[in-house]
Amino acid sequence: MLKETKLIGPFSQVLPMTGLSLKGGMADSDLQVIEEAGIFIEDGRVLAIGLFADMLPKATDTTEILRLDGKHVCLPGFIDSHTHICFAGSRARDYAMRNAGKTYLEIAKTGGGIWDTVTQTRKATRAELVKGILKRANRHLRNGVTTLEVKSGYGLSVPDEIKMLYAIKEANEQLAVDLIPTCLAAHMLPRDYTGDAAAYLSEISENLLPKLKVEALTNRVVAFIEEGAFTRQSIGPYFTKAKALGFDITVHADQFSTGGSEVAVAFGAISADHLEASTEKEISLLAKSTVIATALPGASLGLRCNFTPARKILDAGGALAIASDHNPGSAPMGDLLTQAAILGAFEKLTNAEVLSGITFRAAAALGLKERGRLAPGFLADLCIFHTNDYREILYHQGNLKPCIVYKEGIKVVDKHKD
Ligand SMILES: [Zn+2]
Repeated sequence: MLKETKLIGPFSQVLPMTGLSLKGGMADSDLQVIEEAGIFIEDGRVLAIGLFADMLPKATDTTEILRLDGKHVCLPGFIDSHTHICFAGSRARDYAMRNAGKTYLEIAKTGGGIWDTVTQTRKATRAELVKGILKRANRHLRNGVTTLEVKSGYGLSVPDEIKMLYAIKEANEQLAVDLIPTCLAAHMLPRDYTGDAAAYLSEISENLLPKLKVEALTNRVVAFIEEGAFTRQSIGPYFTKAKALGFDITVHADQFSTGGSEVAVAFGAISADHLEASTEKEISLLAKSTVIATALPGASLGLRCNFTPARKILDAGGALAIASDHNPGSAPMGDLLTQAAILGAFEKLTNAEVLSGITFRAAAALGLKERGRLAPGFLADLCIFHTNDYREILYHQGNLKPCIVYKEGIKVVDKHKD
């Protein structure tokens, strides 16, 4: 079959995000910036990147040439490696109460808090959940996100967790953005469960995890390790079982108290997310490991708590991804670029560090290869901004949105035509 080729350009700048290490800090001078560039695409993947003028003669009769008018900067499509966008209901009332000074307990007593989302999500049909995911994921796509992780975790029973993961699967089939599902049945001990935490974890490890494999619903398992959620001790057998079944492990760690990151390192987790409470000890442990540290600035904003110590993690030699944590409770904004820009300003991160955190370092947090950079063989997921200088992107603190987005070589967003 004839291969489909496209040449897009000329771009004022293409930042392929290649030649950068997975771990540690970096300067903007480490970024490769290709000016007056063109991107050659073959069957949805990058074939070559170089000077547009040099690439034009390589176009054949069947190559589609897509000329850009004006100044444009191209980055790899963004990757949001941590969200909870499968849910029903709204927690606007909780948010207002929290900002009016009410405590978590006071909010929970009036029927708010996470249990409200669990109740509404259990009540919702699969079709209703799919509709919500589509709406939120398409908004992420318009903001340049071409790969989006989505967790279950508001079902908290075997059938309800399965319903959520099927909703994510069904939404994925209808979306241009790729959804990467993760099972968060170990989010909290469900209020209506009659046994203790150990009994609940053993029930989901026996009755849910094998089903996820058989029905190919996800290959990722995450647990929330925190006071009030699951302890380090109780999670051990669950993670051991998940690993034996071949799942990748990830952890909600060190959000309010430490301990989770140690478990992440001990179990060879692919990522440890949150880390707002991490101290020097946890930072050095993470930096020496292969675990990707994921900052979630949206949750810090929503709860008014510390940002993840991103600067310290990078200075210690750690790998830092940045994700939106988009969820109905603590992080309702769901704007990755804005939050990454804010984290950069507060934590003093370079452009190179912030952009790495939402591209190839986020890909690593999901165990994904061939995306997050623009190089031959990588997916032609392109996030294109109307500017001639990549530094304008974070300078505008998220207010400069991409004007064009390509997903695997296909234009899926074009704001010039809106
Ligand atoms: Zn989360």
